Amino acid sequence: MENCLFCKIVEKKIPAQVIYEDNETLAFRDINPVAPVHILLIPKKHLENILELDGALAQAMHAALANIVAQEGLSQGFRVVANTGEHGGQTIYHLHWHILSGRHMGWPPG
Ligand code: 5GP
Ligand code: ZN
Repeated sequence: MENCLFCKIVEKKIPAQVIYEDNETLAFRDINPVAPVHILLIPKKHLENILELDGALAQAMHAALANIVAQEGLSQGFRVVANTGEHGGQTIYHLHWHILSGRHMGWPPG
């Protein structure tokens, strides 16, 4: 989709620190990390948010998540966040899962 930052990262028009890629998904480091490990996992296809995710792509996202957790050695734990819409704090309207790790995560979120 035109004027979508994450589509441009998928198309390699904007650089990103890519740590994982497969046919359906791409993962790269967040430019403004809020934890020692802060990875964004996205579908290559432009979907606005988690509600647009269908079963097949959800399976691909889950498989990518498992691969990234193994690859990055996140066995001590991690958090997956999908900010959705205005109240959810979403700022980029191309579905992304934040994978946060490397420190203890507080609860509740702010
Ligand atoms: P949201 O607020 O929509 O849940 O998350 C968007 C995330 O994208 C933020 O954590 C922000 O730091 C990250 N981000 C924004 N622009 C860029 C960019 O150009 N490159 C990368 N790698 N991350 C970005
Ligand atoms: Zn997009």
